[in-house]
Amino acid sequence: MRILFLRKGGPAMPAEHHTTLTPDTPVRYLKGVGPKTAERFEKLGIVTLADLLCHYPRRYIDFSRPYSIAEAPPDTECVVKAEVFAKPAGRILPGGRRMERITAGDDVSSLEITWFNNPYATQKLELGQEYYFEGIVTGGMLRRQMVNPQVRTAAQITAAPFEAVYPQTEGLSSTVIAKCIRQLLPHAELLPDPLPEEMLKKYRLLSKADAVRAIHCPATEEEAFAARRRLIYEELLVLQLGIGRMKNRGSASTGAPMQRLDPAPFWASLPFSPTGAQRRAVDEILTDLSGSTSMNRLLQGDVGSGKTLVAAAAIWACIRSGYQAALLAPTEILAAQHAENLNRMLAPFGMRVALLTGGMKAAARRTTLAAIRSDEADLVVGTHAILSEGVEFARLGLAVVDEQHRFGVRQRGMLAEKAANPHLLVMSATPIPRTLGLLIYGDLDISILDELPPGRKPVKTRCITGKKRRDLYGFLDREIGAGRQVYIVCPAIEDTPDGGLNAVKSYYEDIAKALLPDRRVGLMHGKLKPKEKAAVMDDFKAGRLDALVSTTVIEVGVDVPNATVMVIENAERYGLSALHQLRGRVGRGAAESWCFLVSDNTAESVQKRLKFLCSTSDGFAVAQFDLETRGPGDFFGSRQHGLPTLQIADLMNDTRTLHAAQAEAAALLAADPLLEAPEHSLLAAQVEQMFTKAGAMN
Ligand code: ADP
Ligand code: MG
Repeated sequence: MRILFLRKGGPAMPAEHHTTLTPDTPVRYLKGVGPKTAERFEKLGIVTLADLLCHYPRRYIDFSRPYSIAEAPPDTECVVKAEVFAKPAGRILPGGRRMERITAGDDVSSLEITWFNNPYATQKLELGQEYYFEGIVTGGMLRRQMVNPQVRTAAQITAAPFEAVYPQTEGLSSTVIAKCIRQLLPHAELLPDPLPEEMLKKYRLLSKADAVRAIHCPATEEEAFAARRRLIYEELLVLQLGIGRMKNRGSASTGAPMQRLDPAPFWASLPFSPTGAQRRAVDEILTDLSGSTSMNRLLQGDVGSGKTLVAAAAIWACIRSGYQAALLAPTEILAAQHAENLNRMLAPFGMRVALLTGGMKAAARRTTLAAIRSDEADLVVGTHAILSEGVEFARLGLAVVDEQHRFGVRQRGMLAEKAANPHLLVMSATPIPRTLGLLIYGDLDISILDELPPGRKPVKTRCITGKKRRDLYGFLDREIGAGRQVYIVCPAIEDTPDGGLNAVKSYYEDIAKALLPDRRVGLMHGKLKPKEKAAVMDDFKAGRLDALVSTTVIEVGVDVPNATVMVIENAERYGLSALHQLRGRVGRGAAESWCFLVSDNTAESVQKRLKFLCSTSDGFAVAQFDLETRGPGDFFGSRQHGLPTLQIADLMNDTRTLHAAQAEAAALLAADPLLEAPEHSLLAAQVEQMFTKAGAMN
């Protein structure tokens, strides 16, 4: 520890401090880390020595199996072993750049290696010695070249055959990070091991210190693997413990005890019969509602599977039991649509539905709020924002949240303040592979609608380029002529300066004036006033508009069964799940429906994605494809799921470890629900840290 803590700048540190090194010591006490570097470390989320030790490498450069020059793969980063044949003095190039160039080679070939503006690069290289060069080999058989490679000696490689490559940031390269970490490795013991001894034995895991040392500087591939396995296990265990604890907190005894109702009268009032999946989901919900703890349930179903009807049945039962219900939607358009549909289903039972929106006049709003407070309104429909807007319920028994991937713990807390632990039903159309769903929604029970209402035909989906637009408009015109309606979705509201995106406003002008001159075309986007939005939507729903040019504000929920064509401009801009949602706006009636993905982007990855969507109508397959090609980080932005970002584990690939950790977490929590035992205190602290960072616990 002597040389470690040469402090740069500021008052000199008393000598005793050198020995009171803790995981919380700031990285700026490290040798070679000044205030600037410390700032850059902070950009990577690294403040303390513990953070630094836990900044795991993304990959390794394998110096242990170098290529010969002839075998080196072209234009790929690789390690080549070669002897220095010639080492002429460096030169200054015209323009002032400095260049060092050596010739290296093996028995068969030679390699010209050049460094720019790095006069020290060749200083230590000795003629006739072998070195390892890491970089990209370019050029043909006759003149192979490498520019600015890293160099290692045989001795260095024996000591560290695998060199860690770290996530870096501007001004802080992987090499510098590696240097800092290497000085710390002798002190890896600083990190306490949160995993109890028996657990290490049971799963044959490395200790924390051994794992940290090995992950940064593995002697063999096996060692790197064992280190990863241990660290992934720890991370997933902590994650599962956190989720498990949220679940325990969530299932408080309910303030709205209800009788187990028979939904038959509600089903009988409908013009159609519910699907088997809808019946099953409603049964599960009604059972929850009559239990002693409050419901925390996620209803998952592909677009068009009829989630609203399930919610309606639950709301019906809640009101029948003498409580109020609330339905929260992500957009005003959707809130208005839900209020209308639910009113149609509930009014025959004498149930009163109130719509609460941001655009309401003050007087109307006051009246509505009073009705909610006095129990005159049985169901309140509004946007997610109504929660925070001082709405007081007389007897709130059930809250339904539509189209939200995850209803955060914080929001749940706000809801609990509105009433004593009301029941909660969250509805989501983002289908998640089951294992992942269990993990992400580990604190919720899940009902799945895996059946579409009868008579639906898959939406015919086609990829086209802008050149085909003329034909497309002809097609739209014929569909409209046959009494159908169409959507056209554009990514932007206004034109962008570079003209790269189709903007709804100008598109609307074009299409309204020139392309569909005899048709009634409406314009919809997020910047319209709530009233204007409602008017446009009403016109479209009532068939007073033939076409709707819109941004993605209509992505979720909108239900107009007479609409049969969805055109998506700049389709390359969206993730598959979003495209699938948009496509779900059509194909809601019995008529044949179409979706056109318009894109001039010919990149292979884009075309592959779009073609995939053409080939399937299964939301789960779409989500799986998105997950595999874009990764879970992208798919479940942490904003959506409220889970911490993982450092080393990968939810898609580490499923076996995930299951093991899940079982272990459940057992641990069963024995010690609040993680209060002394041997669990470190784990409890880790959980707190992981989830506070993600903001999920507050
Ligand atoms: P989503 O699950 O996407 O929210 P909706 O609840 O909007 O789906 O329902 C889609 C459409 O299917 C609506 O027009 C709804 O009236 C209709 N629908 C729902 N359930 C049934 C059913 N059992 N039989 C026939 N039509 C149904
Ligand atoms: Mg819906």
